[in-house]
Amino acid sequence: MLENTLIFKINELLPQTQCGQCGFKGCRPYAEAIAEGRADINQCPPGGDEGIADLARLLGVSVKPLDAVFGQHKPRQTAFIVEEQCIGCAKCIAACPVDAIIGAAKFMHTVIADECTGCALCVAPCPVDCIVMQPVVDEEFDKRARAALSKRRYEARGLRQAQEAAEQAERRRQSKAALLKIKAL
Ligand code: SF4
Ligand code: SF4
Ligand code: SF4
Repeated sequence: MLENTLIFKINELLPQTQCGQCGFKGCRPYAEAIAEGRADINQCPPGGDEGIADLARLLGVSVKPLDAVFGQHKPRQTAFIVEEQCIGCAKCIAACPVDAIIGAAKFMHTVIADECTGCALCVAPCPVDCIVMQPVVDEEFDKRARAALSKRRYEARGLRQAQEAAEQAERRRQSKAALLKIKAL
């Protein structure tokens, strides 16, 4: 069963920030790479020393320091949109791995702070630089519960994107078939 695989167990220990700092396109691909011996356990800055220790324990290997090549461990942050400056281009929505930004094209956008992982992937695509990262002040957040929520949202987004791609492919197929029918008349 998937729940018993090493990849699953490794992924459960990752912070689910989905930032890509480890060099992979999210936590799950990094978990796969660790399990397959393609990546080391010290490549996740959001997980920091605690995350490395968890991975070392699971895999029965020695703890090592975070590899600075991949970044520095920082306290958790969330994105904040300076709404008066937002031009409603929706580029941030496309970049967010957990659908934590709401807004429609040409309308102001807002970050749902409780669902933001702090990955900062929305910052660079914003053409007017109106997204800022702010430190989180709540000291009481449950790290595991937050990671589980982010994982669910990341997976739901992946499913939605796959469904949209399939629907788009079906529409293209139907248009092509209709065109061929017209040409054959
Ligand atoms: S939190 Fe970021 S750096 Fe850590 S495993 Fe997930 S995607 Fe990679
Ligand atoms: S709102 Fe920005 S920082 Fe927060 S999860 Fe989405 S992309 Fe990452
Ligand atoms: S990318 Fe920036 S300007 Fe565009 S919708 Fe998002 S916050 Fe607004």
